[in-house]
Amino acid sequence: MKIAILSRNQHLYSTRRLMQAIQEAGHQAMVVDHSACDLVIEQNGPSIIYKGEKLHEIDAIIPRIGASVTFYGTAVVRQFELMGVFSAIESQAIVRSRDKLRSLQILSREGLGMPKTAFTNFSKGGEKQLVEMVGGAPLIIKLLEGTQGLGVVLAETRKAGQSVIEAFHGLKARIIVQEFIKEAKGADIRAFIVNNKVVGAMKRQGAEGEFRSNLHRGGKAEVIKLSRDERMAALNAAKALGLSIAGVDMLQSSRGPLILEVNSSPGLEGIEKATGVNIAGKIVEFIEQSVLKKTIKRKTN
Ligand code: ADP
Ligand code: GLU
Repeated sequence: MKIAILSRNQHLYSTRRLMQAIQEAGHQAMVVDHSACDLVIEQNGPSIIYKGEKLHEIDAIIPRIGASVTFYGTAVVRQFELMGVFSAIESQAIVRSRDKLRSLQILSREGLGMPKTAFTNFSKGGEKQLVEMVGGAPLIIKLLEGTQGLGVVLAETRKAGQSVIEAFHGLKARIIVQEFIKEAKGADIRAFIVNNKVVGAMKRQGAEGEFRSNLHRGGKAEVIKLSRDERMAALNAAKALGLSIAGVDMLQSSRGPLILEVNSSPGLEGIEKATGVNIAGKIVEFIEQSVLKKTIKRKTN
């Protein structure tokens, strides 16, 4: 098989590991920078032009689409899908999961646990009510477009919460307001899912005095064994969003696991190093099974 990794940088750990796993399984690997692809859309035969040439004979793609290029990147993934190429992650599922608000709405419909969350269009004088809606202080205020823990603010008092909401309003930024989960103690857990199975899980602990556990913010990761509830919550969240590969972030709370977000391009470095599991290899196995299934289906139809 010829498997393409959609990535803007071939030197990233995740990209390198996927390349290696594809080659180890005896396939041909290539890196395609989705931001440098041109799409040709016409009545018959959608195609992709990359570095001046038409891409062809690719059997499967592994999208690694960064948050800043979601629109263009998912258009490229969709084009591959139209060309009959198997995508390890569906374009529509990436679009769905990138919108934090839409994801939380979908997860709540499935009855999954999450911190109580409010979204506002900033009605006049509504800051006070908003703070009360999520149970008063302390509370969390998040930029909808934030990643890697940037744009997540902890307000210790109601007054501070109101001023932060006002400040974001002034900047015309879209935010959600969330109940602060104190019992999580600055830690969160990430379950890495491939094809409806948890293939690895880690707990990330924020640096001393830091409520955010992101590795980018100095958090440390260690392997953990998930409880049954945590495993089910993670699997159901990925399924609800239609993601066959996902990093599900959860907080451990007194009322069970609470989903924070579901990442459609989860990094491999933290999880492989913490767990020692060959996650890139699991992704390649999943592609092999799926492409085989697709071929059999085509032959029998
Ligand atoms: P990002 O997408 O930027 O990583 P998150 O929503 O995952 O944003 O938040 C970053 C970190 O902040 C989380 O990993 C968690 O440690 C902490 N955090 C986020 N929301 C809450 C909350 N409601 N209660 C307690 N801690 C939180
Ligand atoms: N993009 C990284 C991931 O999804 C963020 C990890 C982090 O900051 O903890 O794994």
